[in-house]
Amino acid sequence: MSKTESDKKIEDVLIIGSGPAGLTAAIYAARARLNPLMIEGEEAGGQLMITTEVENYPGFEHGITGPELVAVMRQQAERFGTRFLTRNVTAVDFSVRPFKVKVDATEYFAKSIIVSTGASASWLGLPSEKQYMNRGVSACATCDGAFFKNVEVGVVGGGDTAMEEANFLTRFASKVYVIHRSENFKASKIMLERAQKNPKIEFIMNSVVDEVLGDGKSITASKLKNTKSGEITELKMQGLFIAIGHKPNTKIFNGVLDMNEAGYLKTKPGTTFTNIPGVFAAGDVQDPYYRQAITAAGTGCMAAIDAERWLETQGH
Ligand code: NDP
Repeated sequence: MSKTESDKKIEDVLIIGSGPAGLTAAIYAARARLNPLMIEGEEAGGQLMITTEVENYPGFEHGITGPELVAVMRQQAERFGTRFLTRNVTAVDFSVRPFKVKVDATEYFAKSIIVSTGASASWLGLPSEKQYMNRGVSACATCDGAFFKNVEVGVVGGGDTAMEEANFLTRFASKVYVIHRSENFKASKIMLERAQKNPKIEFIMNSVVDEVLGDGKSITASKLKNTKSGEITELKMQGLFIAIGHKPNTKIFNGVLDMNEAGYLKTKPGTTFTNIPGVFAAGDVQDPYYRQAITAAGTGCMAAIDAERWLETQGH
């Protein structure tokens, strides 16, 4: 028997995504007695789950690992009554009230929605990169760096992530090549200088990885192409870390929520309101700029307060 309009359960707040933005929104919404349901995703916790040491999250003077930080936030959200569903949202319909969120064939209904689906690492898109994924190719030095003790590795990119990963990898690797496609860096001066001063790091400029080479089991080298001369060279390495930025996880909101050219959700400045009243966005999914756990948590708090006040205006 299908559910009728009157017997279907309607959530006050449904949160999609479970990084620091979603979990902070859950803590605030739960404490406001909105009894939030969080659809946390099958890879719950977001990018903090692939971060080892977090030293800049206030309150943890001596640092905390990313997964531990997520775990304590989740426990805090649970303590105040947040319910969790460890599934991926497959579709949304925000044209109806209550809003409809689908997980395969199951439908969930909610008066308000907080989107905190975050962003994911970008890849070069080479078949050989895919072939050697987790067999030498990685997008997370903090997760996989320790597997590369006393060997040579490469890092692709010229932003802060690339500099941070290269510096981190020098704790393990005998040599780290930073391979960057131009001579201009997006990295901040301080991060770039730190990498330039590190004797274990060598910069290879105006170069892209054309192919990842290996013996079928693990990688042995990268084929590099000079972007100016077109010259092809081979550089021996046993690990290759891709650090070329991130993409927001907004595919399911295509054509539904307003986004910028890069796919980040647009919010009304200074708030978490999207173009649809009652749908709010927090964290990296709407922030290509700061992208920090603490800023994600901050906007998660804003989203819960925005949702609570908006529900009040709707007579909740
Ligand atoms: P960025 O977008 O800043 O940098 C991406 C880099 O990858 C650029 O150098 C870009 O080259 C290069 N790139 C992009 N696509 C390709 C490709 N297909 N092939 C080769 N190279 C490519 O991303 P980040 O992840 O480094 O940083 C994102 C944000 O996070 C920034 O705001 C940064 O400041 C912040 N951040 C801060 C940290 C900190 O403060 N501790 C640590 C890490 C990140 P090009 O320049 O030619 O476009």
